[in-house]
Amino acid sequence: MILVIDSHPYRYEAEALCRLFLRGRELKIFEGAEIPEGDFIYTAVFGDEISVRVKMDGKDLSAKDYAVENKAAKMEYLIYKILSKITGILPKWGTLTGIRPVKLALSMMDRGLSASEVREKFRTERLVSDEKLDLLLSTAEHERAIRALSKPESVSIYISIPFCPSRCSYCSFTSHAIEKAAKLIPQYVDLLCEELRDTAVLMNELGLHLETVYMGGGTPTVLNPEQLDRVLSTARDSFDFGGVRELTVEAGRPDTITAEKLEVMKKNGVDRISINPQTMDDGVLEQIGRKHTAKDVVDAFYMARSFGFDNINMDLISGLPGDDFDKFRRTIDSVLELDPENITLHTLTVKRSANLVNDAQAMLNRTVDEMNEHAFRCFDEAGYYPYYLYRQKGTVEGLENTGFCKPGKEGIYNVFIMDETHTILATGAGGVTKMKDPHGPKIERIFNFKFPYEYVDRFDLMNERKEQVKDFYARYPL
Ligand code: SF4
Repeated sequence: MILVIDSHPYRYEAEALCRLFLRGRELKIFEGAEIPEGDFIYTAVFGDEISVRVKMDGKDLSAKDYAVENKAAKMEYLIYKILSKITGILPKWGTLTGIRPVKLALSMMDRGLSASEVREKFRTERLVSDEKLDLLLSTAEHERAIRALSKPESVSIYISIPFCPSRCSYCSFTSHAIEKAAKLIPQYVDLLCEELRDTAVLMNELGLHLETVYMGGGTPTVLNPEQLDRVLSTARDSFDFGGVRELTVEAGRPDTITAEKLEVMKKNGVDRISINPQTMDDGVLEQIGRKHTAKDVVDAFYMARSFGFDNINMDLISGLPGDDFDKFRRTIDSVLELDPENITLHTLTVKRSANLVNDAQAMLNRTVDEMNEHAFRCFDEAGYYPYYLYRQKGTVEGLENTGFCKPGKEGIYNVFIMDETHTILATGAGGVTKMKDPHGPKIERIFNFKFPYEYVDRFDLMNERKEQVKDFYARYPL
């Protein structure tokens, strides 16, 4: 299939939407006015006139409309209407392809629209289904309450530990299996502690206030207890923890969680951890390259409880290779039996860097949708509500990732980062600092080196980049 982009700048929007209807079929992009041979999706904007023509599966349909503003949205509407007619596919998020639909809804509410006006606009103009509108507006309500906690001087810290015990087949993050990268860890920890101290000095100079700290990865608990203690205690000693609302460690894989590490985390004031099963089916765990069983998850969970952790998140993924509806249903039942405070349900995302592109494409998309619907129903019945959500490029069926929690147990950092509420100062390899204007929407980024060996080799150069934070706050003062 060829997507033709004729005389308009909406390539990204058109491509993202078309892919939802093509379900793994190859899509080539061609910029110009020429109509190709064979199947194509032709899109053009001339002045106020927007036209779309699709030749596909023996059908040839076209439509035209006019718009002075929001031409991209109008074009997406036409693409959706034609492609759904030809394919019979009706993506539930309608023409919305961005990763932050809740932020979009909240910005409309900030401009004075009521929740029901936002619902109506999304339903009629963006063709979003009632099911996703319910999810979106319920999430927006909870997200709004959390973001109101942030003040102009608020920032959060991200601490990156980009190492894992082994690589999961579905993983698209830059994480490094420990077998290969273990020798780097001691030096990495030294430099990470240095970066944390420097970041704390910078924050003091600028009068910034720490709201939340999130240590993620990778799998932070691949560090041994001493290394984990060094990173956490350096953070505690360097920053003013007086007003910190949340300190999360994404413990992640149960096979890395030990009593000593839980003790270290407790001692350093960690008040939220993740223990991520992804699935509670041993066969699926094996198939995705996780070297632990469902029983290991249960054991790690109860061990964490015995250390007093009363805010535990568990990540699950729908659409994993080898999974099916019955196994997924059992996964949901097992996790609900543990009664964690947070459950985050991800929909599998197929990225080129993952090893299982073909398996995932073979997965029946409808099953994934049914899995999510089932999970949402069970979570609701068990007293959880959605408090943040985001979408990713390449997610099966264009579906979403949603964080659910018990009342008052929202993962606050998750909302701040997804809503882009305030500046996130990232430390460690792969970290991306996002500076946010305290009084407006402007965002600028600073990228740390992606790979641990670059981080270690070029630390000074990378650390100098943090000077840009001062420049930013000089331009966008508190
Ligand atoms: S534990 Fe997470 S970050 Fe590590 S390889 Fe698996 S999916 Fe990737």
